[in-house]
Amino acid sequence: MRVVLLGPPGAGKGTQAQIIAGQLGVPAISTGDIFRANVSGQTELGQQAKTYMDAGDLVPDEITVAMVRDRLDEADARTGFLLDGFPRTIGQAETLENALEKRGRSLTAALLVAADDDVVMKRLSGRRVCTKNGHNYHVDFDPPKREGVCDQDGSKLVQRDDDKPETVKHRLDVYHKQTQPLIEHYEDQSLLKRFDGTRAPDEVHNHIRATIATMRMEEQV
Ligand code: AMP
Repeated sequence: MRVVLLGPPGAGKGTQAQIIAGQLGVPAISTGDIFRANVSGQTELGQQAKTYMDAGDLVPDEITVAMVRDRLDEADARTGFLLDGFPRTIGQAETLENALEKRGRSLTAALLVAADDDVVMKRLSGRRVCTKNGHNYHVDFDPPKREGVCDQDGSKLVQRDDDKPETVKHRLDVYHKQTQPLIEHYEDQSLLKRFDGTRAPDEVHNHIRATIATMRMEEQV
């Protein structure tokens, strides 16, 4: 199965990606996570990406596409993958399609986890992350026992630079302008499946799981 996950920042794609990938037996590949690991590791790629990420802009396609291509060439991605946060532009989608076509393959589905701007704004601007292991909290929906301190490892909780309200607003603008056109793109190819990201994560997951089960049955018929 070769699946892409679409949706605005904060719709819960990351949470779903891990569970679905486990269920499908394919690696979950998050471009945001790969970029963040490179930023922490102070690699050249991380240095190139950081300014764009902090501003809430997309990292240019040449950099992103090369990184994803390398990742998809790794052994674990040969039989399938779940891409979380890629593609985010029509250019990226076309590059992915061409790369798959050259290998005689194609995408199985594009899963859209949708959420309105006001929900995204509330979720992301209240998110706090632990500085040691990246555990996530929310000031209203999932607060730590002691304000500003991680329950699990006692490290300090911080707000990601790109979760600051003005940056979230900008990320949403970028999403609407550059990523939203992908919805129609995948609809035209009959690959799009929609899910309501404002529901509880378990409910969203059950819906996705049922859809994947149906897709698998259709493949076998
Ligand atoms: P995410 O955690 O998926 O929201 O990604 C965090 C940041 O990484 C984004 O705001 C972008 O700056 C960058 N990024 C992640 N995926 C992509 C992509 N497919 N194209 C361009 N930039 C990306």
